[in-house]
Amino acid sequence: MTGTPVDTLPPLDSGRMAIHTMTTRSLGLERCLEAYGKIGAGGISIWRQTIEPIGIRAAVQLVESSRMRVPALVRGGFFPAHNASDRDRAIQDTLASLDDAAALNAEMLVLVAGAVPGMPLTEGRQQVLRGMEAILPRAQELSIKLALEPLHPIYAADRSCVNTIAQARAILDDLDHPLTGVAVDVYHTWWDPELAPQIAALGREQRLFAFHVCDWKVERADDLNDRGLMGEGVIDIRGIRRMVEDAGFDGMIEVEVFNEDHWAGDQELYLEQIRDAWLEHV
Ligand code: ZN
Repeated sequence: MTGTPVDTLPPLDSGRMAIHTMTTRSLGLERCLEAYGKIGAGGISIWRQTIEPIGIRAAVQLVESSRMRVPALVRGGFFPAHNASDRDRAIQDTLASLDDAAALNAEMLVLVAGAVPGMPLTEGRQQVLRGMEAILPRAQELSIKLALEPLHPIYAADRSCVNTIAQARAILDDLDHPLTGVAVDVYHTWWDPELAPQIAALGREQRLFAFHVCDWKVERADDLNDRGLMGEGVIDIRGIRRMVEDAGFDGMIEVEVFNEDHWAGDQELYLEQIRDAWLEHV
């Protein structure tokens, strides 16, 4: 066995931290940029919901004057649908996201696969492949990477028919394009018995585009919006960080937490907790 032991992982500079705007859902983009900078974060991954109230032009101006890096615009995809017009709507929507990603100088667009209740998962994955094929020429024109994010199997019925890194890689094998890769989120992948070899494979294939961190609480009020801050749950985040870094990943590490209780509190105080959790657990 090779690899860096977890206790000798180099300390992380907070400048490698990027925060997803959904983590501080109640803050507008301007306040996100200020507040993230205040805790030393070097990047911001912007959800489309954060752009909506101000529009893309204003968002671009704010980001440009902040000098924050933008690893990702979040998110497009949701490709599978029972009829052609709904499939086309998802493609058009994702193409519009690609334009926004380019305007924001984002490195990648995160794609959630989508799933339709009742549709066989294998059929869903075929439709994800077709959807990604349809947007790939535009991604290439704009030089925006496409990061497919496998979601935990609890979401297989209605949010994502891609539930493992292996399933994502199978789609990327068919696409065979250097702009396509995977976003590895600890919440969605920590349980996978194949996690270490799959992450190593992503590294060999130059397809490890993003690393998202939060935590899996044993008691959850809700599977979507009760995610833990790093250290509040059971995930061996440092162990997974070692896997991604051994696979060659040296990009920003993105904090992405959806949590109603944290959203309800003072967001500036919460960001200080995020910085502390980052230093202690990532
Ligand atoms: Zn994620």
